[in-house]
Amino acid sequence: MVDNMMSIRFLSKSENESFARVAVAAFVSQIDPTVEEITDVKTAVSEAVTNCILHGYGEGEGIIEIEAKLIKNEIIITVIDNGFGIEDIEQAREPLFTTRPDLERAGMGFTVMETFMDSIEIYSEKGKGTKIIMKKSFSLC
Ligand code: ATP
Ligand code: MG
Repeated sequence: MVDNMMSIRFLSKSENESFARVAVAAFVSQIDPTVEEITDVKTAVSEAVTNCILHGYGEGEGIIEIEAKLIKNEIIITVIDNGFGIEDIEQAREPLFTTRPDLERAGMGFTVMETFMDSIEIYSEKGKGTKIIMKKSFSLC
């Protein structure tokens, strides 16, 4: 049973990366997370949204959708783009793997998401887009 949920849709402009991270942080704040937990969620959302903007849509523009659900003390965040998709998901998850070394990307985005969240699932289809589902349980204080 979902206790609460929200969804937002916005254009893949880099200006919207901070909007997305703050919006999710504001939603999550209702379960009284610690400052560290909020920072973890913001960091993970930033990485996911930056990936949609940079790799999902590249030079083009498209819609990014974020859905967040609260179930007791757990948050489930889904980040979706309808962009290029990922060729090889296992390879993309590897630390230091990037398809954009030309942009000086470190290839650490998925590793960061994995580190700051409890779990991350990646679904992607070439030419159709990418869906990331991240989950994190919060300490109840
Ligand atoms: P960094 O996040 O450190 O700046 P990066 O974005 O290349 O570098 P990851 O976030 O780990 O590293 O992503 C690894 C690779 O997965 C990317 O280089 C890209 O090829 C692919 N990728 C990630 N997200 C998407 C997406 N939404 N659409 C298409 N490809 C993606
Ligand atoms: Mg990245």
